[in-house]
Amino acid sequence: MAVEPRHLKKAGLKVTHPRKRIMEILETKRSKHMTADDIYRGLVEAGEEIGLATVYRVLNQFEAAGLVVKHNFESGQAYYELDSGVHHDHMVCVESGKVIEFVSEEIEAAQRKIAEAHGYDIEDHSLVIYVRPKRKT
Ligand SMILES: [Zn+2]
Repeated sequence: MAVEPRHLKKAGLKVTHPRKRIMEILETKRSKHMTADDIYRGLVEAGEEIGLATVYRVLNQFEAAGLVVKHNFESGQAYYELDSGVHHDHMVCVESGKVIEFVSEEIEAAQRKIAEAHGYDIEDHSLVIYVRPKRKT
């Protein structure tokens, strides 16, 4: 799959081979939320010789350019995802590290009400719920 280098250029980044390949991995969405290690492994599998340090550097550049969002979940490693510009919250499984996206209008509305009760408008928020698979009893 050929990725348009347009995104990179629009973000003011020169199109380099590592940037192009890392963007391609983020766009193939094997998983929407990936750690730098996940991306590095994807590159290795594709036969690329791009080091982990480069992956981190490029991800930081993408983040600074507003192309990706970095999530520092408490489970350990940071997760990166393409910035879709669409608000959503996350659930993180503490056993597998799996990241699940969700949007709840009820939660959004409740937050607006709480902020309002304190005399504020919401500027932004992020909600992370740490979960564990339900055990069958
Ligand atoms: Zn997400």
